[in-house]
Amino acid sequence: MSPLPTVTSSTLSASPPTGRARLMDGAALARRVVEETAARAAELTRRTGAAPCLATVLVGEDPASVTYVRMKQNRCTKAGIASRHLALPAATTTRELVDTLRALSEDPTVHGILLQHPVGDHIDERAAFEAIAPEKDVDGVTLSSFAAMSFGRPGFVSCTPGGIMRLLDAHDVDLAGKNAVVVGRSAILGKPVGMLLLARDATVTYCHSRTADLSAHLREADVVVAAVGRPRLIRGADIKPGAVVVDAGYNAGNVGDVDFDGARERASLITPVPGGVGPMTIAVLLAQTVDAAERQLGPGPRARTAVPPSPR
Ligand code: NAP
Repeated sequence: MSPLPTVTSSTLSASPPTGRARLMDGAALARRVVEETAARAAELTRRTGAAPCLATVLVGEDPASVTYVRMKQNRCTKAGIASRHLALPAATTTRELVDTLRALSEDPTVHGILLQHPVGDHIDERAAFEAIAPEKDVDGVTLSSFAAMSFGRPGFVSCTPGGIMRLLDAHDVDLAGKNAVVVGRSAILGKPVGMLLLARDATVTYCHSRTADLSAHLREADVVVAAVGRPRLIRGADIKPGAVVVDAGYNAGNVGDVDFDGARERASLITPVPGGVGPMTIAVLLAQTVDAAERQLGPGPRARTAVPPSPR
């Protein structure tokens, strides 16, 4: 995992002290993370002669997925990370996709792999993810990455949960002993963010569509992470005074899963939508791509020749 950014709450923009929650400005933090990442990418390229490279794989032409992938490629370019894009037809089979991902996993010029999902109902998405080598799994989607993260071992985290933890750290949120309620339990978001909060000694409760009384759990939460995809599902009245509220939800009309105006009156810190969690996701993807490249490219020719070989 990449080191935490050196930004602190005092260096981030925050709303004036009006008695309402301060904003956790993900856009500002993401800019800092990308700047640091770009500097690392430039140094690695200078040292090894090879730029970090992210391969993006897209199946079909879903307009939202096309836009997401293009956005990721553009950010790569700006950060000095090379990107290679593979656009596969919608009729691609699981076998063909697995073969493509295995070939990228074995290609030494590719350091990170991102399979844009969803991939289509006819494809076994899990089989496709598992074809990504763990050392190139910069989107943190493999079972191996999830296990490593859960056990606190080196590896890549799922990007949105990783971005959420960086946001909390940048705002000095102390998680030990706190009640954290994660609403949502998806493999890429709810489940992993809960594991990361647990690793920081929070007492974690997962809520989901079968939770009997969501409001009762929320009212006890010192930290709320909303990861549902239902506009304003979480009401301001259910936020415990002083709680930290992270809204990862993104719904039509730039609306999150939390009733922002209501929650802001009670919370101490809150993420806006947009400009909160969203920008952090790509920032973590780029940072992890450079991490992967650093590990795969090693110290580089300069460092390798620093100690001359002993004469035979
Ligand atoms: P998902 O796979 O659809 O999972 C949604 C989760 O919400 C499920 O666990 C579901 O419970 C739970 N849920 C649904 N209705 C609920 C209700 N009424 N009360 C409590 N829980 C409920 O979604 P996802 O991929 O995790 O994404 C969640 C949201 O985050 C979406 O808005 C998405 O756009 C956003 N997102 C943002 C980023 C970013 O970069 N900012 C990245 C990824 C996702 P069950 O498990 O019981 O079905």
